Amino acid sequence: MGIYTISTKYLLKDNGTNKKNDTSLLKKYNISNSYKSDTLLYVLEKDLYNEAYLEEYAKINYSDKNNFADVLKSFLPKGYTGEEINYIMNLSQNNINKLKNLEHTDISAYYQFKNFNVDNLKRYQDYQATHDYPLDKVITYVNINLDLPVYTNTLEAKDGNDYLVLVNKYNSLPNNYQPSDLDYVNGQYQNKVPMRKVAKEALEKLQQAVTAEIGITLNPTTAFRNQGFQSTLYNNYVNKDGVEAADTYSARPGFSEHQTGLAIDLKNPATPSNRRLNESDYAWLKENAYRFGFIIRFPGGKEFITGYQEENWHIRYVGEEAAKIIHDNDLTLEEYVDLYVTEY
Ligand SMILES: [Zn+2]
Repeated sequence: MGIYTISTKYLLKDNGTNKKNDTSLLKKYNISNSYKSDTLLYVLEKDLYNEAYLEEYAKINYSDKNNFADVLKSFLPKGYTGEEINYIMNLSQNNINKLKNLEHTDISAYYQFKNFNVDNLKRYQDYQATHDYPLDKVITYVNINLDLPVYTNTLEAKDGNDYLVLVNKYNSLPNNYQPSDLDYVNGQYQNKVPMRKVAKEALEKLQQAVTAEIGITLNPTTAFRNQGFQSTLYNNYVNKDGVEAADTYSARPGFSEHQTGLAIDLKNPATPSNRRLNESDYAWLKENAYRFGFIIRFPGGKEFITGYQEENWHIRYVGEEAAKIIHDNDLTLEEYVDLYVTEY
């Protein structure tokens, strides 16, 4: 047995009366010194000791987090091992509360993923059984609801003004949301194109850069569209092509990113009227838009995530920090929000 240095960090929390030392506590409970650990001393001191878990206490890393006692009290009786308790201590309080309501569940496969959500356990398992993706993708895809039908049980954004607001077939803006800081940029068709001020300022920088670097002009054709206008647009598409086809290229009212005032459609005026951009224009955008806080919102190959056909002309302002991460890691906004924004 090695020399053991007793930690006093919890013993000192007592108010000074009846302060016990570790040896007397071990003696009182008739526990061999070989079991001594910070966690064991803690449970003895807090009157949480249960002989049934003597072996487990030795494996549990002592924690000074507020919820340590609660985790020990809740999970040891469910049959969780000391190793499992250590992992549970790393979960968010939300996940711990959800796990508390379940019988013992083996979640060891999920320990390493910080976007793991206890609520989605069954859905992860079902999705994994039917899709050939690694577990990290399974978790993200389920978290962003790819296993559920679109436009059903949708969530309304809490804050439409958030630069990172996610608007897609599972997430709407608050009804009739309208940004309060709309500004205008000269558009392709001698129109004034409304967009949020931050997007306008970033777009102007992008426009200067693309002209300086590859000698072309990119003009906005449309950016902010209010819900009423989106409604007219979508209904026209439905009348022309039917709901199924219209849904692949047009958003239903309330579910259009254009309503955020942060999405902009671009056109190179040197291309014919039925084209938006040349391949080389898109290549530049793809590699450089992030420098100004924009992302390509509907890239090719990600249709199953974004829910839309490739649109190389539709850029979305998200801010420079997010745009760089999305660009560097080849993510969609859906994945970025799940991995970097949502707290589980
Ligand atoms: Zn667009």
